[in-house]
Amino acid sequence: MEWLTQISPMRAFSARARRAAQRVGLVPTMGALHEGHLSLVRRARDQCDLVVVSIFVNPTQFGPTEDYRRYPRNAEQDVKVLGPLGVDAVFAPEAGDVYPPGFDTWVEPGPEAEPMEGESRPGHFRGVATVVLKLLNIVQPHAAYFGQKDYQQMVVVRRMVSDLNLEIDIVVGPIVREKDGLALSSRNVCLKGEDRKAARVLSCSLKKAETLAASGERDAEKIVAEMKKIFAAEPRAQLDYAEIVDSESLQSVKQLGPGSVALVAARVGPTRLIDNTILEIT
Ligand code: AMP
Repeated sequence: MEWLTQISPMRAFSARARRAAQRVGLVPTMGALHEGHLSLVRRARDQCDLVVVSIFVNPTQFGPTEDYRRYPRNAEQDVKVLGPLGVDAVFAPEAGDVYPPGFDTWVEPGPEAEPMEGESRPGHFRGVATVVLKLLNIVQPHAAYFGQKDYQQMVVVRRMVSDLNLEIDIVVGPIVREKDGLALSSRNVCLKGEDRKAARVLSCSLKKAETLAASGERDAEKIVAEMKKIFAAEPRAQLDYAEIVDSESLQSVKQLGPGSVALVAARVGPTRLIDNTILEIT
């Protein structure tokens, strides 16, 4: 496994692969890898000749009061878990190389970036879209792998790839969860003691939404009200939003339709968590 920290060797790696007609898959991550990331790596391994995992905690997607400095970093452990999966290269650039002095060109995402995370984290998706485009331009993959865990991010990226005519397949993997339902996240290591138990509230509220949808409830407002009740019963959790939206536009819906998505964000102790589920309608 090659460990590349500079942009030009990364480009050279991909140029060689392309000359050899090898399909390159990129899994962009911020490191502190867990089974959610690894599920994407395995999928890329199945579908591509060469797999590149990028590890980059992107400063431009964090707001000034957010946890950029405290974000979990664990490069040594990341190398250990990636080796046995047959990853060909890890691209782990320095922030100063990705954003050299004077850098000032941004990808401004469309309306999908406005609600929910966009409202709570102004500028977040501008940073995400910009770094994803940079990574795609540097690594030049044929396919890039994203998790449903960050549903809104996945929609913003898909839209960017389509709007900017990038010839890259965006592959989306399902959410990997702990036994008790908590979606895996690098931030979960920050959940201490009782907060870890309380964090179940996110997946519990989504389960409630699934159950109501499966039993025929179509009134999104009623479902959201039930989801909020679950948060209200957990004093350690501070709900940011609970929404049911259209799967493509991400606008709130009044009535559930095919593929409506329920999304939640909450702070549990000092840790901000997000989760979502696609509501099946039978
Ligand atoms: P991150 O390191 O948090 O930026 O995540 C890197 C990629 O892994 C993103 O596409 C995430 O959506 C995906 N991911 C994170 N957590 C999970 C999870 N629990 N299940 C599946 N994919 C995930």
